[in-house]
Amino acid sequence: MHESCGVFGIYCPGEDVARLTFFALYALQHRGQESAGIATADGKHIQLYADMGLVSQVFDEVSLGQLTGHIALGHNRYSTTGSSRRINVQPLLVGENNDCLALAHNGNIVNSGLLARDLAEQGYNFHTTTDSEVIGNLILSSPAKDTVEKIRYAMHRLQGAYSIALITKEALYAFRDPWGVRPLCLGKMNGGWLVASETCALDHIGAVLVREIEPGEIVRIDENGVESFREPTQRRALCIFEFIYFARPDSIINGKLLYPTRLAMGAGLAIEQPVDVDLAMGIPDTATAAGLGYAQKANKPFIEGLMKNRYVGRTFFAPDQRLRDLGAKLKYNPMPQILKGKRLAVVDDSIVRGTTTPKVVNLLRRAGAKEIHMRICAPPIKYPCFFGVDMATRAELIAAHSSVEQICDFIGADSLGYLSLQGLIQAVSLPKNVFCTACFTGDYPMPVQLEMDKLALENSSARLDRAQEL
Ligand code: SF4
Repeated sequence: MHESCGVFGIYCPGEDVARLTFFALYALQHRGQESAGIATADGKHIQLYADMGLVSQVFDEVSLGQLTGHIALGHNRYSTTGSSRRINVQPLLVGENNDCLALAHNGNIVNSGLLARDLAEQGYNFHTTTDSEVIGNLILSSPAKDTVEKIRYAMHRLQGAYSIALITKEALYAFRDPWGVRPLCLGKMNGGWLVASETCALDHIGAVLVREIEPGEIVRIDENGVESFREPTQRRALCIFEFIYFARPDSIINGKLLYPTRLAMGAGLAIEQPVDVDLAMGIPDTATAAGLGYAQKANKPFIEGLMKNRYVGRTFFAPDQRLRDLGAKLKYNPMPQILKGKRLAVVDDSIVRGTTTPKVVNLLRRAGAKEIHMRICAPPIKYPCFFGVDMATRAELIAAHSSVEQICDFIGADSLGYLSLQGLIQAVSLPKNVFCTACFTGDYPMPVQLEMDKLALENSSARLDRAQEL
Protein backbone atom coordinates (compact mmCIF):
# COMPACT_ATOMS: atom_id res chain seq x y z
CA MET A 1 0.00 0.00 0.00
CA HIS A 2 1.45 3.33 -0.96
CA GLU A 3 0.76 6.93 -0.13
CA SER A 4 0.40 9.24 -3.06
CA CYS A 5 2.81 12.13 -2.46
CA GLY A 6 4.73 14.54 -0.27
CA VAL A 7 4.52 18.31 -0.82
CA PHE A 8 6.58 21.19 0.49
CA GLY A 9 6.66 24.95 -0.09
CA ILE A 10 8.79 27.80 1.27
CA TYR A 11 8.80 31.62 1.01
CA CYS A 12 12.01 32.88 2.60
CA PRO A 13 13.99 35.79 1.10
CA GLY A 14 17.71 35.50 1.82
CA GLU A 15 17.74 31.70 2.16
CA ASP A 16 18.84 29.04 -0.32
CA VAL A 17 15.24 27.88 -0.72
CA ALA A 18 16.03 25.18 -3.33
CA ARG A 19 18.50 23.47 -0.98
CA LEU A 20 16.10 23.70 1.98
CA THR A 21 13.40 22.16 -0.23
CA PHE A 22 15.82 19.37 -1.21
CA PHE A 23 16.34 18.48 2.48
CA ALA A 24 12.62 18.74 3.22
CA LEU A 25 11.89 16.35 0.33
CA TYR A 26 14.46 13.96 1.81
CA ALA A 27 12.41 13.95 5.02
CA LEU A 28 9.23 13.29 3.01
CA GLN A 29 10.75 10.55 0.83
CA HIS A 30 8.57 7.87 2.49
CA ARG A 31 5.47 9.50 0.91
CA GLY A 32 6.61 8.95 -2.67
CA GLN A 33 9.64 7.38 -4.32
CA GLU A 34 8.89 7.46 -8.04
CA SER A 35 9.85 11.00 -8.89
CA ALA A 36 11.01 14.20 -7.25
CA GLY A 37 10.95 17.83 -8.33
CA ILE A 38 11.59 21.40 -7.21
CA ALA A 39 10.29 24.65 -8.73
CA THR A 40 11.58 28.06 -7.66
CA ALA A 41 10.37 31.61 -8.30
CA ASP A 42 12.20 34.95 -8.00
CA GLY A 43 9.37 37.42 -8.65
CA LYS A 44 9.91 37.34 -12.43
CA HIS A 45 10.30 33.70 -13.50
CA ILE A 46 9.45 30.17 -12.43
CA GLN A 47 12.15 27.51 -12.90
CA LEU A 48 11.61 23.80 -12.60
CA TYR A 49 13.76 20.70 -12.29
CA ALA A 50 12.08 17.30 -11.86
CA ASP A 51 12.79 13.72 -12.86
CA MET A 52 12.05 10.09 -12.10
CA GLY A 53 13.78 8.60 -9.04
CA LEU A 54 14.55 9.26 -5.39
CA VAL A 55 15.43 12.78 -4.24
CA SER A 56 19.11 11.78 -3.98
CA GLN A 57 19.07 10.44 -7.55
CA VAL A 58 17.28 13.41 -9.13
CA PHE A 59 19.28 16.34 -7.72
CA ASP A 60 22.95 17.25 -7.65
CA GLU A 61 24.91 20.45 -7.04
CA VAL A 62 24.44 21.60 -10.64
CA SER A 63 20.66 21.16 -10.76
CA LEU A 64 20.18 22.72 -7.30
CA GLY A 65 22.47 25.62 -8.20
CA GLN A 66 20.25 26.53 -11.16
CA LEU A 67 17.14 26.81 -9.00
CA THR A 68 17.36 30.40 -7.80
CA GLY A 69 14.81 32.68 -6.13
CA HIS A 70 13.20 33.18 -2.74
CA ILE A 71 10.15 30.94 -3.25
CA ALA A 72 10.33 27.16 -3.75
CA LEU A 73 7.99 24.24 -4.15
CA GLY A 74 8.88 20.55 -3.84
CA HIS A 75 7.18 17.25 -4.58
CA ASN A 76 7.80 13.52 -4.11
CA ARG A 77 5.48 11.37 -6.15
CA TYR A 78 3.89 8.00 -5.89
CA SER A 79 1.36 7.67 -8.69
CA THR A 80 -2.26 6.90 -7.93
CA THR A 81 -3.89 8.70 -10.85
CA GLY A 82 -1.74 8.78 -13.98
CA SER A 83 1.01 6.26 -14.57
CA SER A 84 4.58 6.41 -13.31
CA ARG A 85 6.10 8.22 -16.29
CA ARG A 86 8.32 11.21 -16.76
CA ILE A 87 5.53 13.38 -18.17
CA ASN A 88 3.67 13.02 -14.86
CA VAL A 89 6.44 14.24 -12.55
CA GLN A 90 5.66 17.21 -10.30
CA PRO A 91 5.70 20.12 -9.51
CA LEU A 92 3.50 20.56 -12.52
CA LEU A 93 3.87 23.74 -14.54
CA VAL A 94 0.63 25.06 -16.09
CA GLY A 95 -0.23 28.20 -18.03
CA GLU A 96 2.14 30.67 -19.61
CA ASN A 97 3.54 34.19 -19.27
CA ASN A 98 1.81 36.07 -16.44
CA ASP A 99 -0.70 33.27 -15.94
CA CYS A 100 1.93 30.67 -15.10
CA LEU A 101 1.90 28.59 -11.91
CA ALA A 102 3.50 25.44 -10.52
CA LEU A 103 1.63 23.07 -8.24
CA ALA A 104 2.39 20.06 -6.07
CA HIS A 105 -0.54 17.81 -5.16
CA ASN A 106 -1.10 15.09 -2.57
CA GLY A 107 -4.41 13.23 -2.89
CA ASN A 108 -6.82 12.06 -5.54
CA ILE A 109 -9.68 13.85 -7.29
CA VAL A 110 -12.81 11.72 -7.54
CA ASN A 111 -14.52 13.75 -10.30
CA SER A 112 -11.40 14.46 -12.42
CA GLY A 113 -12.80 12.63 -15.49
CA LEU A 114 -15.85 14.90 -15.73
CA LEU A 115 -13.84 18.06 -15.07
CA ALA A 116 -11.20 17.10 -17.67
CA ARG A 117 -13.93 16.61 -20.29
CA ASP A 118 -15.40 20.07 -19.53
CA LEU A 119 -11.97 21.72 -19.67
CA ALA A 120 -11.08 19.97 -22.94
CA GLU A 121 -14.34 21.32 -24.44
CA GLN A 122 -13.25 24.82 -23.37
CA GLY A 123 -9.98 24.30 -25.27
CA TYR A 124 -7.60 23.39 -22.45
CA ASN A 125 -4.87 20.96 -23.47
CA PHE A 126 -3.62 18.14 -21.29
CA HIS A 127 0.03 17.10 -21.44
CA THR A 128 -0.02 14.59 -18.58
CA THR A 129 -2.37 11.85 -17.45
CA THR A 130 -2.75 13.15 -13.87
CA ASP A 131 -5.68 14.63 -11.98
CA SER A 132 -3.24 17.32 -10.78
CA GLU A 133 -3.26 18.84 -14.27
CA VAL A 134 -7.05 18.99 -14.08
CA ILE A 135 -6.67 21.04 -10.88
CA GLY A 136 -4.11 23.33 -12.54
CA ASN A 137 -6.26 23.94 -15.61
CA LEU A 138 -9.36 24.41 -13.49
CA ILE A 139 -7.58 27.18 -11.55
CA LEU A 140 -6.47 28.82 -14.82
CA SER A 141 -9.99 28.55 -16.28
CA SER A 142 -11.46 30.73 -13.53
CA PRO A 143 -12.65 34.13 -14.77
CA ALA A 144 -11.27 35.71 -11.55
CA LYS A 145 -8.12 37.85 -11.66
CA ASP A 146 -6.86 37.17 -8.13
CA THR A 147 -5.13 33.82 -7.46
CA VAL A 148 -7.03 33.18 -4.20
CA GLU A 149 -10.31 33.67 -6.06
CA LYS A 150 -9.10 31.33 -8.81
CA ILE A 151 -8.26 28.65 -6.23
CA ARG A 152 -11.65 29.18 -4.61
CA TYR A 153 -13.33 28.69 -8.00
CA ALA A 154 -11.49 25.37 -8.42
CA MET A 155 -12.25 24.22 -4.86
CA HIS A 156 -15.98 24.66 -5.44
CA ARG A 157 -15.77 22.18 -8.34
CA LEU A 158 -13.29 19.61 -7.04
CA GLN A 159 -14.49 16.47 -5.27
CA GLY A 160 -11.89 14.40 -3.50
CA ALA A 161 -8.68 14.68 -1.56
CA TYR A 162 -6.20 17.46 -2.19
CA SER A 163 -3.51 19.02 -0.06
CA ILE A 164 -1.75 21.38 -2.45
CA ALA A 165 1.17 23.79 -2.41
CA LEU A 166 1.34 26.16 -5.39
CA ILE A 167 3.65 28.97 -6.47
CA THR A 168 3.23 31.88 -8.83
CA LYS A 169 6.14 34.19 -9.69
CA GLU A 170 5.35 36.30 -6.63
CA ALA A 171 3.77 34.13 -3.94
CA LEU A 172 3.34 30.75 -2.29
CA TYR A 173 -0.17 29.33 -1.76
CA ALA A 174 -1.37 26.25 0.10
CA PHE A 175 -4.87 24.83 0.30
CA ARG A 176 -6.59 21.76 1.61
CA ASP A 177 -9.85 20.04 0.61
CA PRO A 178 -12.92 20.72 2.80
CA TRP A 179 -12.76 17.17 4.26
CA GLY A 180 -9.09 17.49 5.27
CA VAL A 181 -8.24 13.99 3.99
CA ARG A 182 -4.47 14.50 3.63
CA PRO A 183 -2.40 16.45 6.16
CA LEU A 184 -0.80 19.86 5.51
CA CYS A 185 0.92 22.12 8.02
CA LEU A 186 2.31 25.63 8.26
CA GLY A 187 5.72 26.43 9.75
CA LYS A 188 8.15 29.32 9.99
CA MET A 189 11.90 30.01 10.08
CA ASN A 190 14.22 33.04 9.82
CA GLY A 191 11.41 35.43 8.89
CA GLY A 192 10.10 33.05 6.23
CA TRP A 193 7.13 30.68 5.99
CA LEU A 194 6.81 27.04 4.97
CA VAL A 195 4.10 24.49 4.23
CA ALA A 196 4.62 20.73 4.31
CA SER A 197 2.74 17.44 4.20
CA GLU A 198 4.30 16.46 7.52
CA THR A 199 5.96 18.25 10.40
CA CYS A 200 9.08 16.03 10.18
CA ALA A 201 10.06 18.05 7.07
CA LEU A 202 10.05 21.23 9.20
CA ASP A 203 12.07 19.65 12.01
CA HIS A 204 14.91 18.56 9.73
CA ILE A 205 15.52 22.05 8.35
CA GLY A 206 15.24 23.88 11.66
CA ALA A 207 11.75 25.35 11.11
CA VAL A 208 9.03 25.36 13.76
CA LEU A 209 5.45 24.20 13.43
CA VAL A 210 2.93 27.06 13.62
CA ARG A 211 -0.30 25.12 13.04
CA GLU A 212 -2.14 22.79 10.67
CA ILE A 213 -3.69 24.25 7.56
CA GLU A 214 -7.38 23.65 8.22
CA PRO A 215 -9.73 21.70 5.96
CA GLY A 216 -11.17 24.15 3.39
CA GLU A 217 -8.46 26.76 4.10
CA ILE A 218 -6.43 28.71 1.52
CA VAL A 219 -3.20 30.33 2.72
CA ARG A 220 -1.33 33.02 0.76
CA ILE A 221 2.28 33.82 1.66
CA ASP A 222 4.04 36.80 0.05
CA GLU A 223 5.98 39.92 0.98
CA ASN A 224 3.12 40.96 3.27
CA GLY A 225 3.30 37.76 5.33
CA VAL A 226 0.61 35.09 5.74
CA GLU A 227 -3.05 35.60 4.95
CA SER A 228 -5.74 32.96 5.45
CA PHE A 229 -9.06 32.50 3.63
CA ARG A 230 -11.67 29.93 4.72
CA GLU A 231 -14.08 27.98 2.60
CA PRO A 232 -17.04 26.06 4.06
CA THR A 233 -15.92 22.68 5.39
CA GLN A 234 -17.54 19.28 4.97
CA ARG A 235 -17.70 16.34 7.33
CA ARG A 236 -14.07 15.93 8.51
CA ALA A 237 -12.33 12.92 7.05
CA LEU A 238 -8.63 12.81 7.90
CA CYS A 239 -7.23 9.52 6.58
CA ILE A 240 -6.71 7.29 9.61
CA PHE A 241 -3.94 5.44 7.75
CA GLU A 242 -1.77 8.53 8.20
CA PHE A 243 -1.69 7.52 11.89
CA ILE A 244 -1.24 3.79 11.25
CA TYR A 245 1.25 3.72 8.42
CA PHE A 246 1.83 6.63 6.02
CA ALA A 247 3.18 9.46 8.12
CA ARG A 248 6.48 9.22 9.96
CA PRO A 249 6.18 8.44 13.70
CA ASP A 250 8.01 11.68 14.54
CA SER A 251 5.38 13.77 12.74
CA ILE A 252 2.55 15.60 14.51
CA ILE A 253 -0.94 15.48 13.01
CA ASN A 254 -4.01 17.05 14.64
CA GLY A 255 -1.82 17.90 17.61
CA LYS A 256 -0.75 14.26 18.15
CA LEU A 257 2.78 12.95 17.87
CA LEU A 258 2.33 9.67 15.97
CA TYR A 259 4.89 7.57 17.86
CA PRO A 260 2.84 7.26 21.08
CA THR A 261 -0.33 6.57 19.07
CA ARG A 262 1.46 3.64 17.40
CA LEU A 263 2.64 2.37 20.80
CA ALA A 264 -1.00 2.57 21.91
CA MET A 265 -2.18 0.59 18.85
CA GLY A 266 0.22 -2.22 19.84
CA ALA A 267 -0.93 -2.04 23.46
CA GLY A 268 -4.56 -2.21 22.29
CA LEU A 269 -3.74 -5.29 20.23
CA ALA A 270 -2.13 -6.98 23.25
CA ILE A 271 -5.37 -6.40 25.19
CA GLU A 272 -7.77 -7.40 22.40
CA GLN A 273 -5.69 -10.21 20.84
CA PRO A 274 -3.57 -11.77 23.59
CA VAL A 275 -1.41 -14.82 22.83
CA ASP A 276 1.17 -16.81 24.80
CA VAL A 277 4.54 -16.11 23.13
CA ASP A 278 8.25 -15.83 24.00
CA LEU A 279 8.97 -12.60 22.07
CA ALA A 280 7.13 -9.72 20.38
CA MET A 281 8.29 -7.74 17.35
CA GLY A 282 7.01 -5.31 14.71
CA ILE A 283 7.59 -5.44 10.95
CA PRO A 284 10.04 -2.57 10.31
CA ASP A 285 9.78 0.34 10.00
CA THR A 286 6.13 1.29 10.17
CA ALA A 287 5.05 -1.32 12.75
CA THR A 288 8.15 -1.16 14.96
CA ALA A 289 6.54 1.19 17.51
CA ALA A 290 3.32 -0.88 17.57
CA GLY A 291 5.42 -4.04 18.12
CA LEU A 292 7.08 -2.35 21.09
CA GLY A 293 3.67 -1.27 22.42
CA TYR A 294 2.45 -4.88 22.17
CA ALA A 295 5.56 -6.19 23.99
CA GLN A 296 5.26 -3.61 26.79
CA LYS A 297 1.57 -4.28 27.40
CA ALA A 298 1.95 -8.09 27.17
CA ASN A 299 5.05 -7.93 29.37
CA LYS A 300 7.15 -9.85 26.82
CA PRO A 301 10.66 -9.08 25.53
CA PHE A 302 10.71 -6.91 22.39
CA ILE A 303 13.11 -7.90 19.62
CA GLU A 304 14.02 -6.65 16.16
CA GLY A 305 13.92 -10.04 14.47
CA LEU A 306 13.95 -8.62 10.94
CA MET A 307 16.40 -6.01 9.76
CA LYS A 308 15.18 -3.77 6.96
CA ASN A 309 17.41 -2.89 4.06
CA ARG A 310 16.41 0.78 4.18
CA TYR A 311 18.21 1.97 1.10
CA VAL A 312 16.47 -0.20 -1.49
CA GLY A 313 13.96 2.12 -3.15
CA ARG A 314 10.98 0.97 -5.18
CA THR A 315 12.52 2.25 -8.38
CA PHE A 316 15.31 -0.32 -8.20
CA PHE A 317 12.82 -3.18 -8.27
CA ALA A 318 10.75 -1.94 -11.17
CA PRO A 319 12.72 -2.94 -14.27
CA ASP A 320 13.80 -6.41 -13.18
CA GLN A 321 11.24 -9.19 -12.72
CA ARG A 322 13.77 -11.55 -11.11
CA LEU A 323 14.61 -8.96 -8.44
CA ARG A 324 10.93 -8.17 -7.95
CA ASP A 325 10.29 -11.89 -7.34
CA LEU A 326 12.85 -11.87 -4.53
CA GLY A 327 10.51 -9.29 -2.89
CA ALA A 328 10.59 -9.62 0.88
CA LYS A 329 14.06 -11.22 0.85
CA LEU A 330 15.59 -8.11 -0.71
CA LYS A 331 13.84 -5.91 1.81
CA TYR A 332 14.16 -7.86 5.09
CA ASN A 333 16.90 -9.98 6.62
CA PRO A 334 15.80 -12.30 9.48
CA MET A 335 18.21 -13.20 12.28
CA PRO A 336 17.97 -16.97 12.95
CA GLN A 337 20.23 -16.65 16.01
CA ILE A 338 17.45 -14.66 17.71
CA LEU A 339 14.38 -16.30 16.19
CA LYS A 340 15.19 -20.03 16.31
CA GLY A 341 12.75 -22.06 18.39
CA LYS A 342 10.82 -18.98 19.54
CA ARG A 343 7.06 -18.33 19.63
CA LEU A 344 6.56 -14.86 18.14
CA ALA A 345 3.86 -12.18 18.25
CA VAL A 346 4.53 -10.27 15.00
CA VAL A 347 2.79 -6.90 14.65
CA ASP A 348 2.18 -5.37 11.21
CA ASP A 349 0.25 -2.29 10.10
CA SER A 350 -2.09 -3.88 7.56
CA ILE A 351 -2.84 -6.76 5.21
CA VAL A 352 -4.08 -5.46 1.85
CA ARG A 353 -3.95 -8.00 -0.97
CA GLY A 354 -2.25 -10.61 1.22
CA THR A 355 0.70 -10.95 -1.13
CA THR A 356 3.48 -9.63 1.16
CA THR A 357 2.53 -11.15 4.53
CA PRO A 358 2.98 -14.84 3.46
CA LYS A 359 6.52 -13.99 2.30
CA VAL A 360 7.36 -12.38 5.64
CA VAL A 361 5.85 -15.32 7.57
CA ASN A 362 7.88 -17.68 5.38
CA LEU A 363 11.09 -15.73 6.04
CA LEU A 364 10.52 -15.98 9.80
CA ARG A 365 9.62 -19.67 9.55
CA ARG A 366 12.78 -20.44 7.55
CA ALA A 367 14.79 -18.56 10.18
CA GLY A 368 13.54 -21.14 12.73
CA ALA A 369 10.58 -19.40 14.45
CA LYS A 370 8.47 -22.08 16.17
CA GLU A 371 5.14 -20.20 16.13
CA ILE A 372 4.15 -17.01 14.31
CA HIS A 373 1.13 -15.09 15.60
CA MET A 374 0.36 -12.13 13.31
CA ARG A 375 -1.27 -9.11 14.93
CA ILE A 376 -2.52 -6.23 12.75
CA CYS A 377 -2.83 -2.59 13.96
CA ALA A 378 -6.10 -1.97 12.10
CA PRO A 379 -9.36 -3.72 11.26
CA PRO A 380 -9.55 -5.80 8.03
CA ILE A 381 -9.43 -3.64 4.86
CA LYS A 382 -12.59 -4.50 2.92
CA TYR A 383 -13.12 -1.47 0.68
CA PRO A 384 -10.79 0.33 -1.75
CA CYS A 385 -9.52 3.88 -1.26
CA PHE A 386 -10.41 6.63 -3.75
CA PHE A 387 -8.55 9.41 -1.96
CA GLY A 388 -4.93 9.04 -2.93
CA VAL A 389 -3.87 5.64 -1.59
CA ASP A 390 -2.84 3.01 -4.05
CA MET A 391 -4.48 0.00 -2.43
CA ALA A 392 -6.30 -2.40 -4.70
CA THR A 393 -9.69 -2.97 -6.23
CA ARG A 394 -12.32 -4.51 -3.98
CA ALA A 395 -11.85 -7.90 -5.66
CA GLU A 396 -8.12 -7.79 -4.84
CA LEU A 397 -8.58 -6.98 -1.14
CA ILE A 398 -8.19 -10.29 0.66
CA ALA A 399 -10.46 -9.30 3.58
CA ALA A 400 -13.28 -8.33 1.19
CA HIS A 401 -13.90 -11.99 0.38
CA SER A 402 -12.14 -14.05 3.09
CA SER A 403 -12.74 -14.64 6.81
CA VAL A 404 -9.98 -14.02 9.37
CA GLU A 405 -9.45 -17.82 9.59
CA GLN A 406 -9.12 -18.08 5.80
CA ILE A 407 -6.63 -15.19 5.71
CA CYS A 408 -4.64 -16.83 8.53
CA ASP A 409 -4.46 -20.08 6.52
CA PHE A 410 -3.46 -18.15 3.39
CA ILE A 411 -0.61 -16.25 5.03
CA GLY A 412 0.61 -19.40 6.80
CA ALA A 413 0.54 -17.97 10.35
CA ASP A 414 -0.36 -19.90 13.50
CA SER A 415 -2.92 -17.27 14.44
CA LEU A 416 -4.09 -13.87 13.18
CA GLY A 417 -5.75 -11.06 15.12
CA TYR A 418 -6.83 -7.54 14.07
CA LEU A 419 -7.29 -4.42 16.20
CA SER A 420 -10.98 -3.41 16.29
CA LEU A 421 -12.09 -0.02 14.92
CA GLN A 422 -13.00 1.01 18.46
CA GLY A 423 -9.54 -0.04 19.67
CA LEU A 424 -7.92 1.93 16.86
CA ILE A 425 -9.92 5.09 17.63
CA GLN A 426 -9.04 4.72 21.31
CA ALA A 427 -5.33 4.47 20.40
CA VAL A 428 -5.35 7.68 18.33
CA SER A 429 -7.42 9.35 21.08
CA LEU A 430 -9.32 11.75 18.81
CA PRO A 431 -13.07 11.70 18.13
CA LYS A 432 -14.15 9.11 15.54
CA ASN A 433 -15.89 11.75 13.41
CA VAL A 434 -12.52 13.42 12.65
CA PHE A 435 -11.47 10.48 10.50
CA CYS A 436 -12.09 8.72 7.23
CA THR A 437 -12.29 5.00 8.01
CA ALA A 438 -13.95 4.03 4.72
CA CYS A 439 -11.55 1.22 3.81
CA PHE A 440 -12.76 -0.64 6.91
CA THR A 441 -16.43 0.36 6.86
CA GLY A 442 -17.34 1.35 3.27
CA ASP A 443 -18.72 4.63 4.67
CA TYR A 444 -17.06 7.09 2.26
CA PRO A 445 -17.06 10.75 3.30
CA MET A 446 -18.11 11.87 -0.22
CA PRO A 447 -19.90 10.23 -3.16
CA VAL A 448 -17.58 7.85 -5.00
CA GLN A 449 -20.16 6.05 -7.13
CA LEU A 450 -18.82 7.37 -10.44
CA GLU A 451 -15.33 6.25 -9.56
CA MET A 452 -16.61 2.83 -8.49
CA ASP A 453 -18.52 2.44 -11.76
CA LYS A 454 -15.39 3.41 -13.67
CA LEU A 455 -13.32 0.82 -11.79
CA ALA A 456 -15.93 -1.88 -12.37
CA LEU A 457 -15.92 -1.02 -16.09
CA GLU A 458 -12.10 -1.10 -16.24
CA ASN A 459 -12.06 -4.45 -14.47
CA SER A 460 -14.67 -5.99 -16.75
CA SER A 461 -12.90 -4.71 -19.89
CA ALA A 462 -9.57 -6.03 -18.55
CA ARG A 463 -11.26 -9.39 -18.02
CA LEU A 464 -12.65 -9.22 -21.55
CA ASP A 465 -9.18 -8.42 -22.93
CA ARG A 466 -7.71 -11.39 -21.09
CA ALA A 467 -10.50 -13.68 -22.30
CA GLN A 468 -9.89 -12.53 -25.88
CA GLU A 469 -6.15 -13.15 -25.51
CA LEU A 470 -6.89 -16.72 -24.33
S1 SF4 B 1 -10.38 5.00 2.47
FE1 SF4 B 1 -8.84 4.35 3.99
S2 SF4 B 1 -6.84 4.81 3.07
FE2 SF4 B 1 -8.40 5.96 1.90
S3 SF4 B 1 -8.52 7.98 2.88
FE3 SF4 B 1 -10.06 6.72 3.87
S4 SF4 B 1 -9.02 5.80 5.64
FE4 SF4 B 1 -7.43 6.59 4.26
